[in-house]
Amino acid sequence: MSVEENLKPSILLISPSDIESDIKKIEEELKIIHNDSDDKILKLKEDVQRLWNFVEWLKIAQVQGIWKSKTCRYSDNGKCNAWNVNEPEKLGLPSEVIEVDSNSSKHVIVDKFPNFCIACPLYEAKAKRS
Ligand code: SF4
Repeated sequence: MSVEENLKPSILLISPSDIESDIKKIEEELKIIHNDSDDKILKLKEDVQRLWNFVEWLKIAQVQGIWKSKTCRYSDNGKCNAWNVNEPEKLGLPSEVIEVDSNSSKHVIVDKFPNFCIACPLYEAKAKRS
């Protein structure tokens, strides 16, 4: 497996709201089952709670991504100038969030895809105007 294939799962393409609706469907199905003494059902309910906790973390991560995309010194008119992503498709990045510049460098439009900033180690705050 290549490095880029390994990175793919770190790119957050799903939204918490997608997961929320899936969890709600599972909860509705669990409500139909009235056998709380069944260990499998209890285990499923615990798993559902874990998913809700995960969704909360995703929401926090998304807020961090948005904030970083707006305040990072490398974000220029909504585009990240720090990273050149050679093969965005291998990272799972949709083509509509990629801008190709005159040097053929491919940059992520973080205004459209702030999730790219969530775990970025290059973040630096923009210099304050004096
Ligand atoms: S946080 Fe990282 S990905 Fe986001 S704009 Fe800054 S350098 Fe680019």
